[in-house]
Amino acid sequence: PHQFIELLPFANHLLPLPSLQAVGSDGVRISMESALTARDRVGVQDFVLLENHTSEAAFIENLRKRFKENLIYTYIGSVLVSVNPYKDLEIYTKNHMERYRGVNFYEVSPHVYAVSDNSYRSMRTERKDQCILISGESGAGKTEASKKILQYYAVTCPASDQVETVKDRLLQSNPVLEAFGNAKTLRNDNSSRFGKYMDIQFDFKGAPVGGHILNYLLEKSRVVHQNHGERNFHIFYQLIEGGEEDLLRRLGLERNPQQYQYLVKVGDTRASLYGFAMWCFWVSQGNCPKVSSINDRSDWKVVRKALSVIGFSEDEVEELLNIIASVLHLGNIQYGGEDSGNAYITTDTQIKYLARLKSPLNLEQASSARDALSKAVYGRTFTWLVNKINVSLTYKNASVIGLLDIYGFEVFQHNSFEQFCINYCNEKLQQLFIELTLKSEQDEYEAEGITWEPVQYFNNKIICDLVEEKFKGIISILDEECLRPGDASDITFLEKLENTVGGHAHLTTHKLADGKTRKVMGREEFRLLHYAGEVNYNVNGFLDKNNDLLFRNLKEVMCMSDNKILTQCFDRAELKDSKRPETAATQFKTSLAKLMEILMSKEPSYVRCIKPNDAKQAGRFDDVLIRHQVKYLGLMENLRVRRAGFAYRRHYETFLQRYKSLCPETWPSWQGKLADGVSTLVKHLGYKPEEYKLGRSKIFIRFPKTLFATEDALETR
Ligand code: ADP
Ligand code: MG
Repeated sequence: PHQFIELLPFANHLLPLPSLQAVGSDGVRISMESALTARDRVGVQDFVLLENHTSEAAFIENLRKRFKENLIYTYIGSVLVSVNPYKDLEIYTKNHMERYRGVNFYEVSPHVYAVSDNSYRSMRTERKDQCILISGESGAGKTEASKKILQYYAVTCPASDQVETVKDRLLQSNPVLEAFGNAKTLRNDNSSRFGKYMDIQFDFKGAPVGGHILNYLLEKSRVVHQNHGERNFHIFYQLIEGGEEDLLRRLGLERNPQQYQYLVKVGDTRASLYGFAMWCFWVSQGNCPKVSSINDRSDWKVVRKALSVIGFSEDEVEELLNIIASVLHLGNIQYGGEDSGNAYITTDTQIKYLARLKSPLNLEQASSARDALSKAVYGRTFTWLVNKINVSLTYKNASVIGLLDIYGFEVFQHNSFEQFCINYCNEKLQQLFIELTLKSEQDEYEAEGITWEPVQYFNNKIICDLVEEKFKGIISILDEECLRPGDASDITFLEKLENTVGGHAHLTTHKLADGKTRKVMGREEFRLLHYAGEVNYNVNGFLDKNNDLLFRNLKEVMCMSDNKILTQCFDRAELKDSKRPETAATQFKTSLAKLMEILMSKEPSYVRCIKPNDAKQAGRFDDVLIRHQVKYLGLMENLRVRRAGFAYRRHYETFLQRYKSLCPETWPSWQGKLADGVSTLVKHLGYKPEEYKLGRSKIFIRFPKTLFATEDALETR
């Protein structure tokens, strides 16, 4: 029993008073004595209570203590910090869900259910749309947290028969999107390779009645290439491992991932001359179809079932899988070089709709045209899938709670266009976080009639501007090079960056102002000083990826396909439209701006996820790694803002209820106005005027120690 213990130092007006309450992980309240020894062991449940709130070491020590006790959740005020336990904890049962239902934040130990419930209640009582923003680096637990939140609503919200189908579809959309949009990476065996914002809609009774998903920037390049130790999207392996015999026969697939270039490159050992080159290629492709934590065969069954719950007909499923199979076949098309230098197809499978590729292209061009087609087909099919799910969720005009699960800040050895977009996205979210946390503090002070004291903080707007500003932002410069005919290349883009924003405080290249070169940086790199740290981006491929072009004749062929999904993905109107499509970066920028608008219109809650180690192992707490995340998630800054004015605030009623026994005038009950009662009480307790302020409905206490002293008074009374 009481596997781990949580102290509840704050007022619980529902419980018999007075005594400091403590509760074990099993929900049973325990004696004060064991609770007090526990306080040392398990740390504080809210960082604002740390004695030394500016010390990063104290912050991390508190996280460590709690992590060792399997207490993975801690608050900073109302922000939830979560550390991935990498093991299943018994804290997500139906009993746990019940425990958090309708209960105030501070009455129970920190939990993602508390955040879920709090948002739900705010939506119900204040009629204001909510959103829960989940952030953290790859593998930190964002997707798991978003699933826990969704499950919480599915289980605890009222329901009717008709609602059951929507609930099921909401839940089942996850395995489908994960199959097509997630992959094993070095960081996470189930890494989301797309950003996701999902609205869950509730009717006036508070029952979930619908939903809507927005997807962001799928990492399409993964379809044709993966780094060593990584895999392509799960669905390919699920289909090959799990697909029924006759399905595979119809799709012309073999039950062996090794057969497919896009899944694993099999070196041609006969051509010994090519041996080394082939080995290089082998190393550079994923080459790891089997992952111990993944069971493709059983996942296949889950996905098949989910597709039918969402409302896919057998025919649609077959068409969808046909596309997946075609991509694999496409990847197997090999080219040879003619004497003239033009490429010809050497494989004879599945070339029907690729026949037109015989336009004069050299070997490299032909392969990249093939890969561009694969990426376009897969990417558009993914978007089609999201739309299809949305139709099944029947969006209604109702109160909503939005869930944002988007890729976290990424720094690799080699960073490219994808990391540039992902990290830009994180800058925007950080900006939103800064604006909203400061703003909500400010709003509360104003609402309570208390003077707001401005807080110093690093505003990353300067970096957002550097990336997205019109004309002189990085994206504009990149677009300009993409549109410029002639000799535009990745390198001319870099030169233009140097000439335009070279002097910017947050951007460096290998060129120094005095014409000398910076040795530590590659000639093809630019470095951005993000709020979360420095990242070097290699410009190789920036123009191609930003252009994201597909040969017109390939588009035409796609439009002619008799696969119904493909004809929806490739619209004939697109062929007539002579206007150049928007570049990938500009599309992303526009969709992010829209996302910010959506989020700004809602009341936000935050879940900040931390990854404890790089080995995906339970029980390992890697200081260096964690310190880095604490830094770039801005947690110390967050805490500073939260503590800058008043660490601590409680409604008069709650405060009075808890401490009234400490003052003869308020015990056993106070008859007058609540504010006067609290005023009488704190004066009796000897609070100095600078230690607290009385707002319209709440008391604000500047230092935690004041409150601790009052708590101790309760104990020794
Ligand atoms: P992210 O979406 O942030 O990249 P995930 O949510 O996919 O990370 O988490 C990565 C892995 O970590 C999961 O597959 C799971 O094994 C483990 N994990 C994450 N959160 C939890 C949790 N709350 N309890 C147990 N395991 C977790
Ligand atoms: Mg994820």
